[in-house]
Amino acid sequence: MNYNKVIAKNVINMPPSGIRKFFDVASTRKDCISLGIGEPDFVTPWNIRERAIYAIERGETHYTSNWGSPKLRLQIAAYLQLRTGVSYAEKEILVTTGASEALDLAFRSLLNGGEEILIPAPSYVSYMPNTILAGGVPVPLQVVEENKFKITRDLLKAAITKNTKAIVIPYPNNPTGAIMTKEDLLDIADVIKENDLIVIADEIYSELTYGRKHFSIVSIPGMRERTILINGFSKAFAMTGWRLGYVAGPVEILSAMCKIHQYTMLCASTISQAAGYEAIKYEMENDFPQVTEMLIQYDRRRKFIYNSFNEMGLKCFEAEGAFYVFPNITSTGLSSEEFCSRLLFEKNVACVPGDAFGEAGEGYIRCSYASSIENIEEALNRIREFLQEI
Ligand code: PLP
Repeated sequence: MNYNKVIAKNVINMPPSGIRKFFDVASTRKDCISLGIGEPDFVTPWNIRERAIYAIERGETHYTSNWGSPKLRLQIAAYLQLRTGVSYAEKEILVTTGASEALDLAFRSLLNGGEEILIPAPSYVSYMPNTILAGGVPVPLQVVEENKFKITRDLLKAAITKNTKAIVIPYPNNPTGAIMTKEDLLDIADVIKENDLIVIADEIYSELTYGRKHFSIVSIPGMRERTILINGFSKAFAMTGWRLGYVAGPVEILSAMCKIHQYTMLCASTISQAAGYEAIKYEMENDFPQVTEMLIQYDRRRKFIYNSFNEMGLKCFEAEGAFYVFPNITSTGLSSEEFCSRLLFEKNVACVPGDAFGEAGEGYIRCSYASSIENIEEALNRIREFLQEI
């Protein structure tokens, strides 16, 4: 059978994730140190795991409402109120299978064929394929190191056409570690309003900022009504495997998203929802002790990796959020792909080539510091040796 005729063209044409490619090779190599993976090295805190065990023991094994458990949604609303100052009602929160599902639902519920989505580049790998699968047209906004990888007013204005429907605002950013401050967001907010754009704010790294607190675009007057605010439990609470996320926004948009969710996912895992409730409640009641402890450790690693790359001559932008650094490797004369392949096969260190995050990432590599300091130290020694040899 000719399966090329069987499988949908837009899936055939879709490149596989450049992150997974390197991760899969790295996982088969003995003594390989991976700075490639974007997930916390911490295990989910015990109180959260215990709550899940308890949920199973109590037989909390049925579907919840499509929207998610009311208890969890109210707790998420309280958390968002605390962090953004914006009130969301229970009916304005939908619990999803990770932020990933929330992103997919956002694109599918907004897009009619040919409508454009502005996506900062480099950015997280899923926005572009999600847009294409939903029938939309991804339009990259080339953010640059000179502007600290932020979206600027001029960049935005130049990219808007009569077909532009929405913009993805993914800060703190994967892969650059860039953030957008209140002032940065205020600078683009009126352009967004004037052009009646919807914002898809992916704030999955909102708890992981260094030196200053995250500022959400929904906190700007007039933005709440046009923002689909996406967040989740994977990064802040070290809960990647639990597959739990959520979206907050105007009830009209959320109802459209929930229509798709009810036919495709039905509801997020009931056990994960019980655990997620415990995660937020405990942290809120105790002034975020476990999140803070993880943040302190990430920050130590961040400073170490940032200084080390600069010392070894790979100019490195100072990340202010998430858990990635994005050193510039153009001085080596290698492409990102060549650099990462050779580093993997010659020194057994896995990083992700910058172009996995779009063409704009060429000339950079992404290194995650969600790895023990010993691992990071050894990986940096090997990279130093690699640089001396090439
Ligand atoms: N958004 C960004 C920017 C990410 O980096 C990731 C995962 O790496 C996700 C969303 C997916 O998160 P989740 O595990 O909640 O699906």
